[in-house]
Amino acid sequence: MNTSLITADNLSVQFPIGGGFLRKKQMLHAVDDVSLAIPKGSFFGLVGESGSGKTTLGRAMLRAAPISGGSIHYSDGKVNYNLVDLPKSELIEYRKRAQLIFQDPYAALSPRMTVRDIIAEPLEVMGITSSREETDERVRNIAAKCRLNLEHLRRFPHAFSGGQRQRISIARALVSNPRFVVADESVAALDVSIQADILNLLKSLQDDLQLTYLFISHDLSVVAHICDHVAVMYLGRLVETAPTRELFNAPRHPYTKALMSAIPSLDPDQRGNAQKLEGEIPSPTNPPPGCKFHTRCPHAIDICKQQEPKLDHLGVEHDVACHRWQELSGPA
Ligand code: SF4
Repeated sequence: MNTSLITADNLSVQFPIGGGFLRKKQMLHAVDDVSLAIPKGSFFGLVGESGSGKTTLGRAMLRAAPISGGSIHYSDGKVNYNLVDLPKSELIEYRKRAQLIFQDPYAALSPRMTVRDIIAEPLEVMGITSSREETDERVRNIAAKCRLNLEHLRRFPHAFSGGQRQRISIARALVSNPRFVVADESVAALDVSIQADILNLLKSLQDDLQLTYLFISHDLSVVAHICDHVAVMYLGRLVETAPTRELFNAPRHPYTKALMSAIPSLDPDQRGNAQKLEGEIPSPTNPPPGCKFHTRCPHAIDICKQQEPKLDHLGVEHDVACHRWQELSGPA
């Protein structure tokens, strides 16, 4: 059994929104009672539609979103942190070990800074290096690993293509030598040909630097290609988790099946079989009772509208939250 780098138990993240004169504040339930363990050294995919809470869950694991309930623990063999009660001094240490690669390589980089300064900034802000020479050496090393030329370090971001900018973002995220990296839709803004290049880079860096990724994506075909584990989120809840091969061979939750059937198929015979996901994801300020997917699920029955399904353990590392997963799975 793998050891976990990050473990969330019954994690909830809520944000107050609205309010004002004679108006009550509402609570937005971005993450609701999520328990999840990310194995050390894994490429862990987190999928779901926009509004499913996956970005907020990733940020909570970086201690960049307020944790309203439950716990998150980080343990890399050298240090252990309880992220809920982390003192400020330890939060700085945690930031060195847990970093984020942004989605948009155009917005993430300051246009007024050289590439060298962009990559060096985390080292200086977190006090990791003590001299300019040491900083430059770290910057050159990580730039080379991210396949950037030394010549690139003197230039400004506008001189680069989207793929090259994403390499700069990756170098900046990895320069502090983190163990855990959240990649939030990190290839979504890139052309398909560039996506493959960046995914291959992330994979080779994982082996080289012993990284554990949380790879957040709405694109299941990308997740199937690169991740070894996948968790599926819907309206703040985890509905299914499994090793990638098992999830794609035998998805159990109706939402997972609907997401998978929407993947464009190269097989013309399969193209007509897509189960269209009807309707919109409900508002997280007013989630439906019972199973949160019941307003869109073609298999919903009375119990689904009244009772929230718990995660059932189907086997090693495969969990599903659906009252009817067994009968909907059909004969084995
Ligand atoms: Fe559909 Fe009911 Fe399962 Fe929810 S619990 S996914 S509504 S069958």
